[in-house]
Amino acid sequence: MRCSCLRGLCQYETTKLVRIQSVRLGSLKWALNGTILVVICMLLLWNRRYQEFELVVSSVTSKVKGMSEVFVPGIGLVSWDTVDYSLPSQDKNSFFVATNLIVTRGQRQGRCAEVPARGRSCRSDKDCEKGVWEKQSHGVQTGACVKFDVLKKTCEISAWCPVETQTSPPRPALVAAAENFTVLIKNNIRFPAFNYIRRNILPWMSESYLRSCERKLDPLCPIFRLGDMVREAGENFHELAVEGGVIAVQIKWDCNLDPLTSRCLPQYSFRRVDQKESNKTLSPGLNYRFARYHLVNGLEERTLYKAFGIRFDVMVFGQAGRFSFIQLVLYIGSTLSYYALTTLFLDWLIDTRCYSAEVGQRYSERKVEAVQDTPIGVLCVSFVDVPLLRLVKRPQKKCLQNAKPVSVQSRKEDPGHLQAVVSLLQCDPEIHPLSNKPSDSSPSAPLTPPPAVPPPALAPPPWCKCSRCTPSSLLVEALCCRVAPGPCISTSGLFERLVLWRTLLESCLQYEDPLGAPSRSARELRHCAYAQYILWRFGPTPSHATPIIPRCCVQIIRERYPSHDGHYSGVRPIGAQQGRGVNKSSQ
Ligand code: ZN
Ligand code: ZN
Repeated sequence: MRCSCLRGLCQYETTKLVRIQSVRLGSLKWALNGTILVVICMLLLWNRRYQEFELVVSSVTSKVKGMSEVFVPGIGLVSWDTVDYSLPSQDKNSFFVATNLIVTRGQRQGRCAEVPARGRSCRSDKDCEKGVWEKQSHGVQTGACVKFDVLKKTCEISAWCPVETQTSPPRPALVAAAENFTVLIKNNIRFPAFNYIRRNILPWMSESYLRSCERKLDPLCPIFRLGDMVREAGENFHELAVEGGVIAVQIKWDCNLDPLTSRCLPQYSFRRVDQKESNKTLSPGLNYRFARYHLVNGLEERTLYKAFGIRFDVMVFGQAGRFSFIQLVLYIGSTLSYYALTTLFLDWLIDTRCYSAEVGQRYSERKVEAVQDTPIGVLCVSFVDVPLLRLVKRPQKKCLQNAKPVSVQSRKEDPGHLQAVVSLLQCDPEIHPLSNKPSDSSPSAPLTPPPAVPPPALAPPPWCKCSRCTPSSLLVEALCCRVAPGPCISTSGLFERLVLWRTLLESCLQYEDPLGAPSRSARELRHCAYAQYILWRFGPTPSHATPIIPRCCVQIIRERYPSHDGHYSGVRPIGAQQGRGVNKSSQ
């Protein structure tokens, strides 16, 4: 056991290949391999698969600039600058620009009627509850029912009075001039693994460049007009300015840090990220409330602002790549499997009818070698007009003649046997058939008909191609000496001399048993004739396969050396028997 394990360690198995000499298949193979190579190289260069990559780390700051005159109802014309319209943003990578306003002036702590839309309508004080705050209300109810206007009465509240009454934002937007405001976005990026730092204000950009650059003319300009950003996002600035919204500013860095092809520039793009249709969302747009407090005659007053505006979220993403030998090797390794597609395709092509059926059959016979786990049941067939031995399974339904081979193998000569037979034929003085017919002695003319074997009286069965076989009830015996119609092997002069000739058979038996009786029984001679046929037509057969002698030959051997009781043992495929093919079949 240990010995076999050790032997297993010292072994190497390799794949057996079948080489088909074919110009068509060869050129097709190289064309396919060339195509695969081109695709692999294109992917390698296009996707820079030879590089290792790292994601960007970045920081963003922004500075909005612009000035506008805003007409605020109740206040008049007001000049607004950056401080007024850019409120503190909620996120570090975003900035907000107010574009529309609802202003409620002169609010003081006190009691007043709630807006009907926000509070409870009432007829008398009974309808109101003291100390109650309703979700949408501006203040806490005092319990009194007061007039809101000439028609409606609402519950009185304790709040900053007067309360904000306007619910929908003004149209057009008050700060529509924000369209022309500009913003300078500063974006610093880092690729720590490559120790690479860059900013979107590129090294060659001067102050005068920044003052004059325009995105329309130069896509690298880091100063953007708000109107342009909204337009590039596919939106109308004046529509968006009324209720506000969120615009994403995307900065993409796709950096190549290889020395020769070095390139690391930002790409800007814009899109709207909040819900667009205002009638489909309950709380559309974007707004903030803030107040400015002041004292009037010693009393605190405030001005409440509801600011609608656009928030710009700056999103930075990207990666940098640098040549890496390991990545290149990994990529090449991962692409090798694509070449198997060529093999798959060609194998499929050979199997299909598109290619020559004959080549396909030969190829699959050579390529697939069936090995049985149990040796019993495999038969070996040798046809006189086919140079290869065929291994077939024991037929169950059709006759052995038509059984499909599971594999084929070339026929090997047994040189020892050939030599022994030739020397016997030459030395024995009783060899008359040779001297009578010198032309027959030549192995190059084996199929000249001798007079010894007459054709059978019965009509041959349908599977017989030599017209000398007799019918058999056993499928395993239904085997002719040929595949295609033609002369029977038993009509060859050599058949008479190598298989049937008594002197040769007796010499063979004596060779095996030198001191045995010189006259042999018909059974011994018959079996020796079978063995001679097998050695002649099969050579050394595979150890697990049983050679089957064609029906025509069996019949002739039986006629020459008949059984005294007319009983014959028939085919006995016994795979376990060892040794030369002689002993493996008795018929
Ligand atoms: Zn036949
Ligand atoms: Zn035959």
